Amino acid sequence: MQITSKLPEVGTTIFTTMSKMALDYKAINLGQGFPDFNTDERLQGLVSKAMADGLNQYPAMAGVPALREVIHQKVKTLYGRSYDVDTEITVTSGATQAIMAAVLASVGTGDEVLVLEPCYDCYLPAIRLAGARAITIPMVSPTEANPLFSIDWNRVKASITAKTRLLIINSPHNPTGAILKTTDLEALEQLVQNTNIMILSDEVYEHIIFDSAPHLSLASSPVLADRTFVISSFGKTTHTTGWKIGYCCAPKNMTTELRKVHQFMVFTVPSVLQYGLAAYTADASTYLILPDFYQRKRDHLAAGLSKTRFKTLPSPGTFFMLADYSDISDESEADFSIWLTQHHGVTVIPVSAFYENPTAPSSNHHIVRFCFAKKDTTLDQAIERLTKI
Ligand code: PMP
Ligand code: GLN
Repeated sequence: MQITSKLPEVGTTIFTTMSKMALDYKAINLGQGFPDFNTDERLQGLVSKAMADGLNQYPAMAGVPALREVIHQKVKTLYGRSYDVDTEITVTSGATQAIMAAVLASVGTGDEVLVLEPCYDCYLPAIRLAGARAITIPMVSPTEANPLFSIDWNRVKASITAKTRLLIINSPHNPTGAILKTTDLEALEQLVQNTNIMILSDEVYEHIIFDSAPHLSLASSPVLADRTFVISSFGKTTHTTGWKIGYCCAPKNMTTELRKVHQFMVFTVPSVLQYGLAAYTADASTYLILPDFYQRKRDHLAAGLSKTRFKTLPSPGTFFMLADYSDISDESEADFSIWLTQHHGVTVIPVSAFYENPTAPSSNHHIVRFCFAKKDTTLDQAIERLTKI
């Protein structure tokens, strides 16, 4: 039967494509972002216990109350905003489903959504499925003097029209590692005041931030929090990307609409994982240790890459690091990533894949993304291979 595609330009995601290529060529996979080490045994035990205790039936649509309570406490302690457990916190099937539900609930035909590029891959399809139009705004590319991607707020301002309904922000930022600074938050506050623009703030890497920098959640700004879906994920925080448990905190009226979509997308998400995560995450040390844990891995990879012909860019947050390969090749990022897997057995992700038009020259900066959520032995093996190039 003929089917008219709603997403004609979408194929298999770059993460799946590169992971398959890594398997095919027996390459070390520093591409797709997932840890190659196991989650804490204590968390495994808590989930098993929930299962043995018979907590196996439908939990509440918005999420297990104990988990929403833990999220409430964490967000209040770290960012100062007290989201109501009953009406403002929703547990979702990963951040991906929270993003889809938030976009479907908040925009539609005729609306424009501002997205900063490079951006995570699920934003643009969500906007299209909602019938809205994505307006992409390039981030300022890195230079020798300023080696981080950054946001030009004047450019964002110039892109606002009477149709702008939503702005999507991501910090710490995948794939660039950039983080929002106080000046960014202030610029954002000024930008949206006296508008009816909502914000979707993707904060899945909130606990993976380095060099003692604070994570500036949009929940920490009363002006912004009043119009923002703050979205996070336990996948990154507990080394369980396959469990797909995330959440969204948003003001009551926005949460009401989000839940109307959520309840018919999934209704609710696996009970035992929620009970396990609630008991585990009640202990704040489980996430407060993450900056040190991942900073050591970041520095390990950076030290290793300094012995190769890659030039690393700073990574203030996330478990990703960008590296410039222009001393090795002038191929496009996609071609270089394939070549690296096939000929040197190390898989990375082309940053151009995070642009609406990956083949455009303006989307190619001779930069690829390495994931360092890996055992030290995995990083060492990859570095050994890369040193030979
Ligand atoms: N946003 C960003 C920036 C991500 O990197 C990811 C996944 N790695 C997600 C959202 C999706 O998170 P989840 O796996 O919880 O759906
Ligand atoms: N977020 C992960 C990354 O950026 C991938 C998630 C996925 O494969 N969908 O690598």
